Amino acid sequence: MNRISHWVNNKVVAGTSGKSGKVFNPATGKQESEVDLANIADVDAAIASAKAAFPAWRATNLSRRAEIMFRMRELIDANRKEIASLLTQEHGKVPSDALGEVARGLENIEFACGVPAMLKGGYSEQASTGVDVYSIRQPLGVVAGITPFYVPAMVPMWMFANAIMCGNTFVLKPSEKDPSASMFIADLLRQAGLPEGVYNVVHGDKVAVDRLLEHPDIAAVSFVGSTPIAKYVYETGTKNGKRVQALGGAKNHMLVLPDADLDMAADAAISAAYGSAGERCMAVSVVLSVDTVADALVEKIKTRVPNIKVGAGTDPASEMGPLISREHRDKVASYVTGAAKEGAKVVIDGTDKAKDEGFFLNPSLIDHVKPGMKCYDEEIFGPVLTVMRVKGYDEGLKTINDNQFGNGTAIFTRDGGVARQFQYEVNVGMVGNNVPIPVPVSYYTFGGWKASLFGDQHMYGPEGINFYTRGKVVTSRWPDPRTSQVDLGFPHNR
Ligand code: NAD
Repeated sequence: MNRISHWVNNKVVAGTSGKSGKVFNPATGKQESEVDLANIADVDAAIASAKAAFPAWRATNLSRRAEIMFRMRELIDANRKEIASLLTQEHGKVPSDALGEVARGLENIEFACGVPAMLKGGYSEQASTGVDVYSIRQPLGVVAGITPFYVPAMVPMWMFANAIMCGNTFVLKPSEKDPSASMFIADLLRQAGLPEGVYNVVHGDKVAVDRLLEHPDIAAVSFVGSTPIAKYVYETGTKNGKRVQALGGAKNHMLVLPDADLDMAADAAISAAYGSAGERCMAVSVVLSVDTVADALVEKIKTRVPNIKVGAGTDPASEMGPLISREHRDKVASYVTGAAKEGAKVVIDGTDKAKDEGFFLNPSLIDHVKPGMKCYDEEIFGPVLTVMRVKGYDEGLKTINDNQFGNGTAIFTRDGGVARQFQYEVNVGMVGNNVPIPVPVSYYTFGGWKASLFGDQHMYGPEGINFYTRGKVVTSRWPDPRTSQVDLGFPHNR
């Protein structure tokens, strides 16, 4: 059986807890690996290595840090297929989705190559006579990342690339369900020349998370996962004096107005609801259709669903893979069964597939969904698209704003004025105009509102740089030194 252990000081290090978790191939339902689950001593060892590495890494000049990150960019680019195949093996996603995940993660590495430009401060000459004032941004120290099973390569890249480019050292606690991508990436960072201790990985469960949240040497925590755990991580981490950004779950609505291109809307709903088997924090989970076009839209979605090829990611024909685990598959199926009992209309029931080997479901489509039904009130995180009928724009907007989550949303219309009004009024962090999965590019920033994010700073992009640094302002006066020296060499810093 393949064993997955921790990564400390650029080496694989066996755990000491004697506890391990099972890692499955979701397409076969068979266990492929055993992952060490850290105890407090294992977490402390990773933090100690990050703490020891911090002074030298912080002192490493920006050009040298960027040189390593550029090499990392090349290494990830050269290893796209290898990373994607690990994602297919442990997460279950099909290659097109896995390669997309790697590409979106790579964007964050590319952004991080330019972090030196983001660390420039302001400068005010002659703020007072002979006095200049300037601002600088400095790293926090050892920072931690805690990541979910969904996008196990991309979300760590959202975090560590900016964190280490800002001069911090990093401890990652990836999902114990698909931990291999983070180990592969760790070795690429080593190959890129990252010094020992700058990037560490501890595998584990609540024990490891709690230790990161209470350890005095952890300065900040970035978390992505479900809302209850995000809230817990935010509350516990901040209580212990840490800076925390904790991204939670979602329920993303797509509002379709009568003037929308209905074929485009149906294609978008299918892609955004069933891609990655609906296990996406930006998946469209609810289509809000204005009454007058709802029957036509549901019919268009219904005729498209049977064309989706569900199967293992190792089959090039597959478009939608399995879910992450047996328990999660059964929970997702229970929302479909429950919806019929609560009075919704199950147009397509995809739960039959649950009898196959592996953790598969077929796509499900549920119409006439209303607030108060479990399949609407809770995050499903599976291949289940629900449709709610609304009278018009106002009711659609109110429904979205009344929902507890505020991660992503989209409006489908040809009316730019209404779309502009929507972006102005909607209480959601990421908005698409005829774009169903509006995940911002790496030089913007990612984050939801309401129960989809706890904390002040969104993740990656400029807000990521703010999160991983703190500001200092210097007020300065100098005697005129009148000193100089001769050096004909080209000025350089290495
Ligand atoms: P999860 O909350 O179960 O796990 C996330 C992390 O928290 C994992 O590392 C896990 O080991 C740890 N964890 C789990 N239970 C814990 C506990 N009781 N105490 C301390 N730590 C604990 O989430 P998941 O099932 O891995 O991922 C799916 C969820 O992540 C969905 O809700 C999805 O919406 C969300 N998600 C959100 C975003 C976003 O950007 N907002 C992105 C991806 C996924």
